[in-house]
Amino acid sequence: MIDPVVLLQELIRCESVTPQEGGALDHLEKLLTAHGFECHRLKFSDKDTPDVDNLYARWGRATPHLCFAGHTDVVPVGDRSIWSCDPFGGAIKDGQIWGRGTCDMKGPIAAFVAATLNFLAENKPAGSISFLFTGDEEGPAINGTRKVLEWLDKRGEKIDFCIVGEPTSREMLGDMVKIGRRGTFTGRITVTGTQGHVAYPHLADNPIPRLLTLLKTLDDLELDKGTADFQPSNLEIVNIDIGNTVDNVIPAAAHATFNVRFNDQYSGASLEKKLRGEMDALKIPYQMTAVTGGESFYTPPGKYSELLQNAVKKVTGLTPELSTSGGTSDARFIKPYCPVVEFGLVGKTAHKTDEHVAVKDVVALTDIYSEIIRVYCA
Ligand SMILES: [Zn+2]
Repeated sequence: MIDPVVLLQELIRCESVTPQEGGALDHLEKLLTAHGFECHRLKFSDKDTPDVDNLYARWGRATPHLCFAGHTDVVPVGDRSIWSCDPFGGAIKDGQIWGRGTCDMKGPIAAFVAATLNFLAENKPAGSISFLFTGDEEGPAINGTRKVLEWLDKRGEKIDFCIVGEPTSREMLGDMVKIGRRGTFTGRITVTGTQGHVAYPHLADNPIPRLLTLLKTLDDLELDKGTADFQPSNLEIVNIDIGNTVDNVIPAAAHATFNVRFNDQYSGASLEKKLRGEMDALKIPYQMTAVTGGESFYTPPGKYSELLQNAVKKVTGLTPELSTSGGTSDARFIKPYCPVVEFGLVGKTAHKTDEHVAVKDVVALTDIYSEIIRVYCA
């Protein structure tokens, strides 16, 4: 039997600070190969981003095909001297396991790998089970999950249901499951004018008031009213940048940046169209560069959320809230291919100094994933 707590300690000891592999994927590949998984190490590169190592491992070829997705990369530890433990030590103290990546998300990885291997040791499921591990979730997310999925698609491999092990629990293990996340869109606007002396404004053309008019219009927009499962899309102005170091010059250009967290009423493209339409109506010349950092994802409540809710309830007694709150995750890349939900440990210490999780939560999470496998793959 695989002990998820021991596996978690082994993974914490791999210093896989993004985009370093740190031995974490090697360790998983060795373990899974020994248990009959077909493993593929997938290294991807792209311009201006680091090369990234990924691992796809599948047991069986039959359907339904359940996939667990997760990232072995972790964020940097920051100032190591203020950690009260070795961030890559995996020590157990006061009923907690300590170290970078314990909750985000080596803990869930240890839990679903242990749950799967222990299940396979005693059962022969009708379907197949796979793992999609990336080393590029905390980094630019260019050479990770998205490219692994494209690779799978080209091979004709179809996933029927995917669970991402992000730390979705808020206060207690099992209090929240994510069935969606908002998308993120960043716009950078430039308005140009003519530089000149403030004392002779008729010889210059100040772009700042026009930029402010554009920003006021954007800020006043009601993008939507939200939906039953999503809060309203929200635009925030995050920077106004004139770069003027003196008080007697009218600047030649003014810049501003805003970010929108948008729900499933928009795609990045439809949102851009809407915002440009609003600004074009003002007849103020501007340029905008737009970047959709991630589309939203949404798996409506139903079969898949119920499967998770029932498993969580059986192990913890809690019925998890189905939420779409928070930032983006790799589920945004998975949603075009199959239904996807996220469930993992309590995320309170994610990305923080002294990241840790309760040993009993790792054990309970393993039981929850086991129950999901038992019900879905039986
Ligand atoms: Zn994460």
